[in-house]
Amino acid sequence: MQKISLEQLVAFLKEQGFIFQGSEIYGGLANAWDYGPLGVELINNIKQAWWKKFVRNNKYNIGLDSAILMNKEVWVATGHLSSFTDPLVDCKKCHTRYRADKLIEDFSNGAVTGDGKTNEELLEYIYSNKITCPNCGALEYTDIRKFNLMFKTHQGVVEDNKSEVYLRPETAQGIFVNFKNVLRSSRKKLPFGIGQIGKSFRNEITPGNFIFRTREFEQMELEFFCKPGTELEWFSYWRSFCMDFLIKLGVDKAKLRYRDHSKEELSFYSNGTTDIEFEFPWGFGELWGIASRTDYDLKAHQTHSKENLEYLDPETNEKYLPYVVEPSVGVGRILLAALFSAYDEEVNEKNETRVVLRLANVLAPYKLAVLPLIKKNHAEKANELFELYNEHFSTVYDESANIGKRYRRQDAIGTPYCVTVDDETLNNGTVTLRDRDTMEQIVLKTTEVIPYIEEKLKF
Ligand code: ATP
Repeated sequence: MQKISLEQLVAFLKEQGFIFQGSEIYGGLANAWDYGPLGVELINNIKQAWWKKFVRNNKYNIGLDSAILMNKEVWVATGHLSSFTDPLVDCKKCHTRYRADKLIEDFSNGAVTGDGKTNEELLEYIYSNKITCPNCGALEYTDIRKFNLMFKTHQGVVEDNKSEVYLRPETAQGIFVNFKNVLRSSRKKLPFGIGQIGKSFRNEITPGNFIFRTREFEQMELEFFCKPGTELEWFSYWRSFCMDFLIKLGVDKAKLRYRDHSKEELSFYSNGTTDIEFEFPWGFGELWGIASRTDYDLKAHQTHSKENLEYLDPETNEKYLPYVVEPSVGVGRILLAALFSAYDEEVNEKNETRVVLRLANVLAPYKLAVLPLIKKNHAEKANELFELYNEHFSTVYDESANIGKRYRRQDAIGTPYCVTVDDETLNNGTVTLRDRDTMEQIVLKTTEVIPYIEEKLKF
């Protein structure tokens, strides 16, 4: 059971300084969210964990950081300009606008998706299943129209056709257009992957569920290039790799599932696609899309740019376009799943509620809190230790309120360890270290704290 509703989580995260409504003092901007002091640490920790496992410490992969604004021809080549669209439908009675595929998905609790269906088939499904307008209950819709999700803007001072540019709707294409550069400069051999983390933008018709679906969001994408014929093995490899990663990040295993796309749902260029889904309070939602994309993207760019993007296989001397497996995930979606998994409330014998954010150590914004027992006696030593520990891992210092309250505060923001500085510290050089989850306390020498916590932070 999730212990918190979406509304309660939003309020909790605001209160604690994780996530605020964007432009709040001006009444906000629909669907825009800002990460506060704790949120930015948490989100950075997710990105660093991904970078470590998928790029830096991964024997196959290397990284890239490409520009958000790209030559318009990129989106012509990939088909984004003509067909990166959602099927939009309006209720004729109350004029509420919906994504036709989402109406079907919500109605069928995710059992039926819109993937692979034509506009006519979508409408037919809606009418024959009597999927009424969730707002007013009517069953009268407009025809489905295609709505392009890319944000358009202009580069430079003249606003004409030639200056049109688009904010990228995915980071992946920055990787494909750099394939040749990376291959040449890194001298990598197949199989290898290129990973990237960055902002993407989609003018979503129905954003919502807090940071689950936003118009500006951050993606972590890997394009893994391999020899044609080996792609399904790699697909299966990355499918489990991504699931293991989520579990290591503390996402509740019981709420995770794979959803393999059926033949009808698969994109025409894909020979295998799986979504890793998480059970949110509103139902299962996609966290991670893992797709075997054949040579669709490289071929499209090779044809359109007229640049040869082939790989020369040193073993066989053959030239071919590599096949690609793409695991693609939104940072915000992992964050939301990790928060729903971590939030916990306990009631003690005195009927007091303890809120504990049981985040994995690797994700916790602060790894350690340093708390002087009595401010006037212990603050100086505690500050000295804070400076020392903060050099090694993210540490926070708190001297206000009684020690019990300070422990509760750290529990609620997910700090896994607290050390209390007291007379023993001044006389014997020891501190009491308290564990967030078990509330057990142990005594350690001040110098032992660093190796103790570093061991616990291993990921
Ligand atoms: P959906 O069906 O939810 O719209 P999608 O299948 O279009 O997602 P992809 O294009 O495969 O998504 O994008 C890869 C990943 O990027 C998704 O699995 C998700 O984690 C993230 N993502 C996509 N769109 C958004 C969004 N609007 N807001 C936040 N994250 C997103």
